[in-house]
Amino acid sequence: MDANNKANSQAQTGKQKRQGDELLVAAIKNGTVIDHIPSVKLFQVIRLLKLDDVKSAIMVGYNLKSHKMGHKSIIKIENKYFTDEELNLLSVVAPNVSLCIIKDFEVVEKKRVALPADIKGIVKCANPKCISNNEPMDTRFHVVDDINGTLSCHYCGKEQDLENVKLVGH
Ligand SMILES: [Zn+2]
Repeated sequence: MDANNKANSQAQTGKQKRQGDELLVAAIKNGTVIDHIPSVKLFQVIRLLKLDDVKSAIMVGYNLKSHKMGHKSIIKIENKYFTDEELNLLSVVAPNVSLCIIKDFEVVEKKRVALPADIKGIVKCANPKCISNNEPMDTRFHVVDDINGTLSCHYCGKEQDLENVKLVGH
C-alpha cells in the first residue's frame, strides 16, 4: 500500500467510526437525553435517577469518543421527564452533564444541573463518628461553596469536597 492509499483508508476508518458512534445513540421521539456524563460516573447517574425502576426504553452509550472529554457516556430515556429536583441530584456526581428535553424528535429545552442548597440522603459523611454513620438516618449536607463544591455535614459540621465524596451505600 503506498502512502496515499494508506492515508485514504485511515480517513475512511475515522469516518465510519464517527458514524458508528451516532448509530449507537439513536434518536428518541420523546424523552430526556443526558449527555456528557463522565464514563466513570455512569452507574452512579443510573442509580441517582433510579433508572432501574423506570419502565420506559433506555439507551445507554458507554465510553463514546468525545472531542470535549476524551470519552463520555450518554443516556437516552424514552417518554420520561424528570423534575428539576431529580435532575439536580446529578450535580453531586456529574455537575457538567447537559440535559436535553426531546419532543417529536426536536430538542425543545436544554438544561444544566444546579447544586441544591441542601443534599439529603445521597452523600456519605467522611467522619466515622458522625451520628449519620451510626444511626439509621438520612445524611444531610449544606453546600457552603458551590464554586469549589464544598459541602458541610448538617450533623457534625465536617466539610468535604464534592470531587471526593462517597455516596451512601458505597
Ligand atoms: Zn457528619
